[in-house]
Amino acid sequence: MEHFGHVIDGEEIAPGSSFTSVDPWTREPWAQVPLGGAAEADLAVTAARRAFDSGPWPRMGFAERGALLHRLADLVLAHTDELAMADSRDMGKPVADARGKDVPRTAQNLRFFADHARLATSEAYPMDSGHHAYARYEPAGVVAAIAPWNFPLMLESWKVAPALAWGNTVVLKPAEDTPVSATILARLALEAGIPPGVLNVLHGYGPDSAGSALTGDPRVDRITFTGESGTGRVITAAAARNLTPVSLELGGKGANLVFADADLDEAVDWSIKAIFTNAGQVCLAGSRLYVERGVLDEFLARFVAAAEALVVGDPRDPATQIGPLASETHFGKVRGYVENSAGTILTGGVGDGWVVRPTVVVDAPADSAIQCEEVFGPVVTVTPFDSEAEAVHAANDSPYGLNAMVFTSDLSRAHRVAAALRAGTVWTNCFFVRDLRAPFGGFADSGWGREGGNFSREFFTEPKAVVMAIRQ
Ligand code: NAD
Repeated sequence: MEHFGHVIDGEEIAPGSSFTSVDPWTREPWAQVPLGGAAEADLAVTAARRAFDSGPWPRMGFAERGALLHRLADLVLAHTDELAMADSRDMGKPVADARGKDVPRTAQNLRFFADHARLATSEAYPMDSGHHAYARYEPAGVVAAIAPWNFPLMLESWKVAPALAWGNTVVLKPAEDTPVSATILARLALEAGIPPGVLNVLHGYGPDSAGSALTGDPRVDRITFTGESGTGRVITAAAARNLTPVSLELGGKGANLVFADADLDEAVDWSIKAIFTNAGQVCLAGSRLYVERGVLDEFLARFVAAAEALVVGDPRDPATQIGPLASETHFGKVRGYVENSAGTILTGGVGDGWVVRPTVVVDAPADSAIQCEEVFGPVVTVTPFDSEAEAVHAANDSPYGLNAMVFTSDLSRAHRVAAALRAGTVWTNCFFVRDLRAPFGGFADSGWGREGGNFSREFFTEPKAVVMAIRQ
């Protein structure tokens, strides 16, 4: 068993009781971490508060802060194997994905937001009255960052990097299923020279535990949360008591529209990635596939063959594309959707251990659970459509609105449909490609607010107007 602590005020500590993280492939506990509650949340917020109110971090120049974040990015890359193995053992992610995608993207997040803050300009408003107004972006204060388990390190860095780059201090609470990489990140931040108390890591559960203690603390100035829509509602209610601004990146049920004029090879390839990457445990998963009837049979034949060719197995094997689901609880949930599925399963089903094989379902009624609810596993429903209007209507017929994909060779249709879709991101003839300057977030039950580039700046700072009289 390996041991990992909270990191509070520059010290790694493990007071009181603890819990274990279970490796979903071996189904054995592999890491022990302390179980934080109100007392540890208080310590962490106190440390972050002190580092913000009287420490050097918010008072440093952007270049100096940015250099430390770049040094942290260097250390993240130098520890790629350790970080990749941590996420893989915590949640069953293929280690090749963690090594090749999640860890480099973590370093990229740190570098991007360091540079973005350093290079940011602010608006000036010359006034006819002989005054001059301009905007300043002041750090907001103490940020509580609450993360999910599906891309642990990568999504944590998506919050931590802009928060730190804009001069805030942070208490990061990783998901209880994936605690380890956060502790390693905080150790590396100290090694990089980021002062104690600037990045704190607090372990524990959500309700009646570390999570709710953090979100209810009036000394927290921002809460950035990624997780389930239901949890987003609970956190928003807690934050409302202190009027703490909240950013929510929540669940999804992504629609993926394949028109008959699409390049089918490209559409099959991206549609496979869209639903089976990370065993479908992706908020952006293309879990509702709509295919124009004229190409349905051909598309399905190729899609099912490609799904069956995916390598399912031990996440440590570099050839593995799909590992087990992240935990026994989550496996039980996904298994329930598969075993009680309306419609016909063309391929897939439950495998050995906590594995669900790539599963393709047809003829699921529009109001069935598997078609409407976020399964968060390698399970896709495929439904035919006959017109553009029908496809758009079906895609929008969901409480979620995180993202959608459109495959077509008709340029005007691509723009028309992208405009009509009620989703925070629309990918046309691609999937998962991100520009970190672009807004990221969801419509409706998929979120509140946007992050990325200037959108992160708006959330993690207090914009201030300075108005000057110009004596004539
Ligand atoms: P979850 O909501 O169960 O937990 C997320 C985090 O919130 C964990 O750290 C948990 O401990 C904490 N938490 C739970 N209850 C809390 C409470 N009452 N107060 C404070 N903290 C609390 O989500 P999950 O199962 O870890 O993640 C999967 C979900 O996340 C899916 O719905 C997925 O779509 C969503 N997600 C969204 C995005 C996005 O960018 N929109 C990205 C990844 C995952």
